[in-house]
Amino acid sequence: MQQNERTEISEFGEFGLIEHLTKNNEITQAGTLLSVGDDAAVIDQFGKQMVVSTDLLIEGIHFDLMYTPLKHLGYKAVAVNLSDIYAMFATPTHITMSIGISNKFSVEALEEFYEGVYAACQKYNVDLIGGDTSSCQKGFIISVTAIGEVAPDKYVTRSGAKVNDLICVSGNLGAAYLGLQLLEREKKIFLENPGIQPDLEDQSYLIRRILKPEPRAEIVEWLQENNITPTSMIDISDGLSSELLHICKSSNVGCVLYEGKIPFHPDTEKMALEFLLDRTSCALSGGEDYELLFTIKQEDYEIMKTNAHISVIGYITEKEKGTYMLSKGGNNHKLIAQGWNAFS
Ligand code: ADP
Ligand code: MG
Repeated sequence: MQQNERTEISEFGEFGLIEHLTKNNEITQAGTLLSVGDDAAVIDQFGKQMVVSTDLLIEGIHFDLMYTPLKHLGYKAVAVNLSDIYAMFATPTHITMSIGISNKFSVEALEEFYEGVYAACQKYNVDLIGGDTSSCQKGFIISVTAIGEVAPDKYVTRSGAKVNDLICVSGNLGAAYLGLQLLEREKKIFLENPGIQPDLEDQSYLIRRILKPEPRAEIVEWLQENNITPTSMIDISDGLSSELLHICKSSNVGCVLYEGKIPFHPDTEKMALEFLLDRTSCALSGGEDYELLFTIKQEDYEIMKTNAHISVIGYITEKEKGTYMLSKGGNNHKLIAQGWNAFS
């Protein structure tokens, strides 16, 4: 928030505020026929199929403004929705942004939030084409709808994994969870002792993973360029374990996950040690990594292994064989939604 200025939203009124927040809105998609300013937007899909996803973010439940800069929040609100579109193997093209705002927010605060929204739109080449604005009694409520396009019948669901398919994941896991632990620790220290400045300098990677996640656009593009169509795909918002179980349940299959193959960033490994947390647990149950989890046919392995940003972490089995993780110690653990069952 800018220090000295505070413009009350009431000075603008609802329509004035919408106009103010969207006056520099740039349209880049050829398919955007009508954008902000009418009763609805109009999109030409040029013969493609449309993919739609929506998310609700509520202050105190999904984000904490004590350590979330509004610009990052605007960016993340868009990014996590685009991640859902990429997880369908589609390309995002448009978003709508709806906000419920209490009177603790000034126009300057909302400008900052929209800076983040526009930054994400620009980076991922999507148009903001509308939304809704309302007051609410407390806090901040954000709802984003993302729209994407895909060639006819080329979208990828959670339900297509087949026995012997390889399980792949992009990037690395557990970083966002450790970033969150760091922010929570600093918040606690600050609340107990407001004089102490947070010491987060060396942890920029982990902090960025939680505050400013990036949807894995380049993974989807790479797969498409290399003619690899995953048999199933999902993005990791709740943790590897829960997402893999979604794929197995929807696809009616089982799985073997190799603990030793789960990818980690060196900062994640270091911080897990510092917090006395098991890094595997951070990957399985932490969530918010927004990496892509997908399955491919065995025949695509030769090409897949040339991409350093994709790890093969297991394979799909018959449903009757269950859903297991093979630990580094060689034991079989049954996967459960929150991690794995250490007693089986
Ligand atoms: P209506 O009364 O039909 O809901 P609004 O006055 O709410 O219309 O919205 C006017 C225009 O501004 C519409 O194009 C709508 O999509 C857009 N809009 C409203 N709120 C926002 C917002 N927070 N961000 C972006 N566009 C918005
Ligand atoms: Mg409206």
